[in-house]
Amino acid sequence: MKKNISMAPWQMITTVMLLTLVISFQVNAQNTLTKQNIQKVLDDAYSKFKDLQEGKNADYIKELATVDPNIFGIALITTDGQVYTEGDIQSMVSIQSVSKVFTMAKDLEDLGPQAIQDKIGVDATGMRFNSIVAVEMQKGKEINPLVNPGAIAASSLIAGADSATKWKNIVQIQSDFAGRQLSLNWPVYVSEAGDNLRNQAIAHLLYAYGRMYFDPVQATDIYTKQCALNVNAKDLAEMASTLANGGVNPVTKKKVVSQATVMYTLPVMATAGLYDDSGIWLFNSGIPGKSGVGGGLLAVCPGKFGIAVVSPPLDAAGNSVKAQKVIQYVVEQLKVNPYWIEPKQ
Ligand code: GLN
Repeated sequence: MKKNISMAPWQMITTVMLLTLVISFQVNAQNTLTKQNIQKVLDDAYSKFKDLQEGKNADYIKELATVDPNIFGIALITTDGQVYTEGDIQSMVSIQSVSKVFTMAKDLEDLGPQAIQDKIGVDATGMRFNSIVAVEMQKGKEINPLVNPGAIAASSLIAGADSATKWKNIVQIQSDFAGRQLSLNWPVYVSEAGDNLRNQAIAHLLYAYGRMYFDPVQATDIYTKQCALNVNAKDLAEMASTLANGGVNPVTKKKVVSQATVMYTLPVMATAGLYDDSGIWLFNSGIPGKSGVGGGLLAVCPGKFGIAVVSPPLDAAGNSVKAQKVIQYVVEQLKVNPYWIEPKQ
C-alpha cells in the first residue's frame, strides 16, 4: 500500500531550511580552497611569522652563512595552475637537499621502483643527513635517496656515460619540475666543492661496498653542483605542484614524470624528507615535504597544490624554522591534512 507523504507548510519550510544549512555546511567544509581564502591564509601566515627570529643560517658550507637571513617568501601553486605568492619570491637561494627529490624521481622514472629499492634503499636512516655511521651500520644498504649517501648514489645512477651528460640530465629534470631553466649558484658550488671531504668520504665508503654507480669523486661533484642550483619560493612551489598534479607541471602543462613515479616519490618524502625530524614534520603537517640547508622547504598536498617557503635560518636538524611553521599553519587553516577526517554522520 502506498502511503501519501504530505507535509504541513511549516514542516516544508523547516525541512528546506535544514537542508540548506546541511548543504551550505558541506560546501563550506570543502571550500577552503577558494582564491580569496588561499591568499588570505598566505597573507596571515606571512604576518604571523615574519618577525620570528629563531634559527641560524647553515655555515658548514661557508657561502651559506653570507646569505641574507631575512629572505622570506611563500608560494602556493594549485593543480589547476593558479599561482599565489606572498613576500619575497625574487631572491634566490641554493636548492640544496630539495634537489634530491627530483634526481630520485628521475631514477625512478628511468629504472623503476625495484631498482631503487635494490641499489639504494628507501627506508629512512633516522640519522643526520650526512651521517657516515648510517652507511657503515648497513654496509651501504638502505641509504635512502633523500639524505646525502643515497642522494650521491642517486646522482651516480642518472643516465649518462660521462659526468657532463649526467649533469645535463640532472639540470633538465630539475628545470622541468620548476618550469624554467635553472642555473648554478657558482659561489655556493665553489664554496662547497672546496670543502666537501665528508661527502667524498661517504661516496668512497659506498664505492667500497659496491653501492656507488659512477666514479665517487665525479659523482660527489655532480651532486654538489645539483645542490647549488638557484631557486626562489615560486620555483620550489612549482616543483611541488608538479608532484601534487601526478607528474604534469600545472603551469607549463609538460608531463615531467609518470603518475607511478610520483606515487613512489611521495612516500619517501613523507618518511625521510626532513631528515631525522621527518616523523615530527609528518606528525604536525600530515603531508610529504622536503627541506634543504639553503632554507627552502616544499610540501605536496596530493591532487590539490604544492607549497614552498624560503627562509634561511635553520633549526638543529637543518630545517628552515619559519618554513616549517608557515606550511603547518597553511595546511591547518586550509584543512588539507589528509588525516583530518570528517566523520560520516
Ligand atoms: N649540499 C648539502 C650537503 O651535501 C646538502 C645538505 C642538505 O641540504 N641537507 O651537505
